[in-house]
Parts: sequence; structure tokens; C-alpha cells
Amino acid sequence: MPGSPGSPDLRALVTGATAVLAEAGVPSARVDAVALAGHALGVPNLVLVMAPPLPPDFSARYAALVERRRLREPLQHITGTAAFRHLDLTVRPGVFVPRPETETVAQVAIDAAQALAAAGTVPTGVVPSGAVPSAEGAAAAVVVDLCAGGGPIALSVADEVPGARVTAVELSPEGVALTRANADRLGLEVRVLAGDVRQASLLAELDGAVDVLVSNPPYIPPDAVPIDPEVRDHDPDLALYGGGADGLEVPRAVVWAAVRLLRPGGTFVMEHAEVQAEAVRADVDATDAFTDIHTVADLTGRDRMVVATRR
Ligand code: GLN
Repeated sequence: MPGSPGSPDLRALVTGATAVLAEAGVPSARVDAVALAGHALGVPNLVLVMAPPLPPDFSARYAALVERRRLREPLQHITGTAAFRHLDLTVRPGVFVPRPETETVAQVAIDAAQALAAAGTVPTGVVPSGAVPSAEGAAAAVVVDLCAGGGPIALSVADEVPGARVTAVELSPEGVALTRANADRLGLEVRVLAGDVRQASLLAELDGAVDVLVSNPPYIPPDAVPIDPEVRDHDPDLALYGGGADGLEVPRAVVWAAVRLLRPGGTFVMEHAEVQAEAVRADVDATDAFTDIHTVADLTGRDRMVVATRR
């Protein structure tokens, strides 16, 4: 019976859409076909057998969404959301779409901040006098996210580490606005600033006072243009290309900001491309400011981030 729950019509439409998307080279075509059906029905995590009755205009609206995806518009731009750890984040064109591998980078920062919060021992004398105490008094951990984009890491730290004082810095006005919008919508407290990591005075009030500095900077080299149209044609170049022949100009500026901002014993975590592990470890080592410099892989086993402790 058309329009009944778990309607075979919906199954047929999703199967057809899956074939169209697979033909266009969309990775995970079926997952996307189901997600677009859920979006059209206003049911974010649609389970086909539990689908509501289809409204009369469903197939036309669904076809239009599938066509956008067939043309390789990112799924997250079409649905307007991306899942990141425990959060459903608003996503907009013009701002980098959060990636699953960055959830692992956030994990390391969250673990470090949680360890401080649990111990209740943020070293005294390092929180600058100008810093505003949180409602609960001293911060459980002072965390800074540089090159924050739409804020997935900063927002996740604020969500998962109660009492953490989180500051996000982002160069693009669109990223700053989106991080603020997400923070407001989710009721999370994150200070969001427009700023360039190459500025020597960036966050000067936190010099030597940061417990955890985390970053997913742009790092793609100029000659490694991404193959996926979703990335190449839709993520902003500012968020992709790190500058210099090796793509590590902005990451190196992040390293130097970490040298300045972290307190002794503070944790540094920065994402990079799989092939950059050795070069990034060398850059971190060259500052002479860190110990325990090591590479951590993401959930697919790819070298994904450098982790180090400020001396
Ligand atoms: N990880 C990005 C990509 O997959 C590269 C840039 C970044 O994350 N900072 O395209």
C-alpha cells in the first residue's frame, strides 16, 4: 500500500537513488541515499522500516536532492548538518566540513583536558590575572583550538569536558560566525575569536597559560589537489592548502603559537596528512620546546596527528 510505514515505494526510491549515486562515483552511495530520504522526510536518522508515510511531493523533492548529490555537492551541504562525536553541527558552504578522522584528534585533546579536570589540578599561578573565571571558579582546563573552522573540536571539548575554558580562533569570518552559531544553538560555552595563527600577538593574554592546544590547520601541499569533487570544489581553499611547497607553512605557525601559549607540561595536538608525520615531528622537535613528540594514527590506521608535551 503506497504511503504506508516502511513503504516498499520508499525502498524502491532509495534503491534507485543508490544506483544513480554509485554510477556518479559517490562513495557510500546507499548511506547517502538513505540520508537524503531522511532529510526530505524531516527524519534525520531515518531507518527505512520505520519511515513515516510519504508525502505526495516526496519523490519530486527526493529526486532534486539526489540530483544535487549526483553532481557531487557534499551530503553535508545538502542536509546542512554533520555529525561530529556527540554533536550534530550545522554546516554551511564556505566553511570546511568536519571529518571523521578529526574526531580522533579531538579525542586526544579531550583526554588531556579530562585528565586535568579529573585531577582538579590545573597548576596554580599560570592562569593570567586578566582571565575571567568560569561560573564554577577556576577552569578545569584551559584549551585553545587554532584554525577552528566551524568549531567541531572546540565545541566537542566544551561538550565533553565540564568546566573547561575553551577558546577557538579562526581566520575566516564565515568560520567564526558558524562556530558562534553552533555554540549558541547547542548551548555550549566557547570563546570564538577571529585571528591569524601567524600573528605573534595572537591570544597574548594566554601566553604560557594554556593546558591543551589543539589544531586541525590547512596542510595540503599546492600540488596535491584533492581528487574528491566534494573537497576540491566545495571546501574553502583557505581551509585546505597549508602554504609553502610542502603545505606546512600554516602548521609551522601553529607549532610556534603552541610554543608560546602552552604552559610547561601542556599538551600539543595537531592534525596533518598521512605523509607528513616525519616532517611535522621534525618541525616540532626543531623548536627545542617539546618532549615526548610522537605520531598518532586515526581509526583507519593512517598517521594523522603529532602529539607532544611542552617542556
Ligand atoms: N583533511 C582535509 C581533507 O581531507 C585536509 C585539510 C585539513 O583537514 N585541515 O581534505
